[in-house]
Amino acid sequence: MYKLSELNQICSKCNRCKLHKDRNKVVFGEGNIETDLMFVGEAPGFNEDRIGKPFVGKAGHLLDKMLKAISLTRDEIYITNIVKCRPPSNRNPDETEIEKCLPYLRWQVKIIQPKIIVSLGSVSAKILIDDNIKITKGRGKIYTKGKIKFIPTLHPAYLLRNTNAKKDSWEDFKLISKTLKEIRSV
Ligand code: URA
Repeated sequence: MYKLSELNQICSKCNRCKLHKDRNKVVFGEGNIETDLMFVGEAPGFNEDRIGKPFVGKAGHLLDKMLKAISLTRDEIYITNIVKCRPPSNRNPDETEIEKCLPYLRWQVKIIQPKIIVSLGSVSAKILIDDNIKITKGRGKIYTKGKIKFIPTLHPAYLLRNTNAKKDSWEDFKLISKTLKEIRSV
């Protein structure tokens, strides 16, 4: 069994797919490794690729606000992405890139053992929950797989473009908070 730091080291040198060619930094993920709550986005964007940390751009600021609204900070959660390198021009990661990168996420989940995983956006929900999921319909529900409760919600970058959807997102975040409280009270 790897330690998370060892996995990070391995991942930082990864060349398993073509995304390694254009990346500045691998964005492995960060946060509290003892947490019950993990967030999984899609892929690093421009700012994340520069800095090497997930969700540091505008979408990340919105995510921080949503976390604050349910009295959480980044120190209490772990955040990562389906793929750890930025796809050129922020296109969606392709099937091969996802397949090559997924072992890192599987290891992260194995090591951190979150009880709740929140998928941010459509790509993450399809990979983690169900390939046929439609995020606008499937969001805000709990999908239990083994010991983990998956809660899909809208991607914060989508919310920046569709501010009307923020009310749906708020419902999802209330569900996340309620589910976390229930888990913590057991
Ligand atoms: N969008 C994502 O899905 N992940 C990030 O880390 C940043 C933006």
